[in-house]
Amino acid sequence: MNLHLENWKNYVTHLECSKTGNRYPHSEVIGLSDNNAPILVKYDLASISKELTKEDLKLRGENLWRYSELLPVKNHENVVSLGENFTPLIPTPNLGKGELFIKDEGRLPTGSFKARGLCMAISMAKELNIKRVAIPTNGNAGAAMAAYAKRAGMSSYVFCPDDTPEINIREIAMQGAHTWSVNGLITDCGKIVREGVEEMNWFDVSTLKEPYRIEGKKTMGLELADQMNWKLPDVIIYPTGGGTGLIGMVKAFNELEEMGWIDSKRPRMVAVQSTGCAPIVKAYDEGNEAAEFWENAETVAAGIRVPAAVGDFLILKGIRETNGFASAVTDESIISAREIVAEKEGLLLCPEGAATYAAYLQEIQSGRISEKESVVLFNCATGLKYPMPKVNNFIDCKSKIDYSSLRA
Ligand SMILES: *Cc1c(COP(=O)(O)O)cnc(C)c1O
Repeated sequence: MNLHLENWKNYVTHLECSKTGNRYPHSEVIGLSDNNAPILVKYDLASISKELTKEDLKLRGENLWRYSELLPVKNHENVVSLGENFTPLIPTPNLGKGELFIKDEGRLPTGSFKARGLCMAISMAKELNIKRVAIPTNGNAGAAMAAYAKRAGMSSYVFCPDDTPEINIREIAMQGAHTWSVNGLITDCGKIVREGVEEMNWFDVSTLKEPYRIEGKKTMGLELADQMNWKLPDVIIYPTGGGTGLIGMVKAFNELEEMGWIDSKRPRMVAVQSTGCAPIVKAYDEGNEAAEFWENAETVAAGIRVPAAVGDFLILKGIRETNGFASAVTDESIISAREIVAEKEGLLLCPEGAATYAAYLQEIQSGRISEKESVVLFNCATGLKYPMPKVNNFIDCKSKIDYSSLRA
């Protein structure tokens, strides 16, 4: 990986509680703030904008580490990398009348955008001399953590609900994590990790319970701005579970504006959930600042089956500040959206990615999104990890082939 080592410099000033603004030093191992809220990383943006130009960036590799000034790793020797290259922003003219793109995050290591967050969290864990990490997961976060932890020589413990897609559980175990399935939801798995921290001496890498996964996910926003030549789309549709990506992108755009690299116009952030698990949509619709626990969460889109999110108030704030909204789509519409995209554009999405297209269609219909707006959909993982309909076509090569029947 090309790390432009000659000018690697760290600009973090401090860490900050996302609720109270209380400050914490950057050099310590830290989880949630004293108020049980996620902690955000703060940078000396004025100095970065003096010392870094858009032209400088162009000379660097097209990968996540290109934005090192806006990332928390102090010593480049602590970078734990599996090749976090740019993901393509693909125009999809056959999917709608308006300007529509899919950012295909399935091309990242371990096949999902969880790699962005976990490569940062594990790199920082290495920098802070942590040796054992643990995570509750619906699949992809565990796979990414297992892979990066192995790479860093750490031991890792992963807890999945027992109905997590089988392939996820297997890939996690193959990448060397102590892997357990649990007869509960991700929140139950989270409790196992939380309550075992002391006895097991592990570091809790749960969504938003340490400061650095957001910084990794933030690169989706930096990369998107960079790819679009520092002009952002009108709307971003994001499948929202714990919300790291949405919160991270909003943070990225705020930092870029403070550096003077983009203007104050923001993409409207649209959070998509399944009607089977839509705590953020409910809170948005009811005008609440935080979400309630969603009972009996169930959806084909496992990655967004998150009944309670610690960062719920940050997701809702990000949506409202940008004039976006939250939208719930049915599992049937997710499955049908996945088929349409594969058939019309040759792109195999994961169900969560398909949910963004289902939401696009639904909200064009409702009028909350206009065909005049440019829209970016996030496909969060490779479609290959998820079940597909069985193919029953069969040819008996020992007998004469009736070619006319192949057209059917
Ligand atoms: C984790 C995950 C999501 C949700 O991402 P957040 O940023 O945590 O909200 C969506 N889809 C897939 C496939 C995921 O793995």
